[in-house]
Amino acid sequence: MSIREQITEVRERIEAACRKAGRSAEEVTLIGVSKTKPAEMIDEAAEAGLLHAGENYATEFRDKVPLVRHRDEIHWHFIGHLQTNKVKYVIDRAEYIHSVDSERLLQEIDRLAEKRDKVQQVLLEVNISGELSKNGLSAREVPFLLEKAAELSHVKVGGLMTMAPFGANESEIRRIFQNLRRLSIDLKPFCCNNIDMNILSMGMSNDFELAILEGANFVRVGSAIYGKR
Ligand SMILES: *Cc1c(COP(=O)(O)O)cnc(C)c1O
Repeated sequence: MSIREQITEVRERIEAACRKAGRSAEEVTLIGVSKTKPAEMIDEAAEAGLLHAGENYATEFRDKVPLVRHRDEIHWHFIGHLQTNKVKYVIDRAEYIHSVDSERLLQEIDRLAEKRDKVQQVLLEVNISGELSKNGLSAREVPFLLEKAAELSHVKVGGLMTMAPFGANESEIRRIFQNLRRLSIDLKPFCCNNIDMNILSMGMSNDFELAILEGANFVRVGSAIYGKR
């Protein structure tokens, strides 16, 4: 199947999941995850109407975005683990950074965003499952980071992001997504000028329908659009 056909199929599955959940499909933003895939494929997706793209690796992001013809129309999401010394490679282009998981990283983003006279939108990545191999904050750590974020002038926290552990079964995955949603509700008291909890970034090729049933509004879909990596 072509990229266009894969996108159509994923969009139909999103619509079906939204119907099942009693939600409007317009609430859900599909982000095409293009890590390791060439710029031409991102352009192909953009021409099929997919204008949100997610990348995982800072240097790949830096090198690839300039090769994408539709780069200025695309909303770029940085979704991978980010080292503080590589924020400079993503800050100019990223509309959202989904993977903030430390105070140090948040402060570096704020510092560089200020230099560039922008307010960087970020999500906090939470390791809901507590899986040792996963990046992300524990649920307990999130309030502390939000208190720090409230003091910064060039970052805006829009919500939370998580990944279900590899190999988890359907009910485990649902529970993780449900817990992220509950956490975002519990965090409402921290909302202020530059913090809100409107975004839940959860769900990938294998579990985006479950994520939508649990309230996801950003889904990050790679292989179901671009094929195996
Ligand atoms: C790779 C990746 C995705 C997409 O994964 P697929 O299984 O290919 O859909 C989504 N989110 C993150 C953080 C990723 O690293």
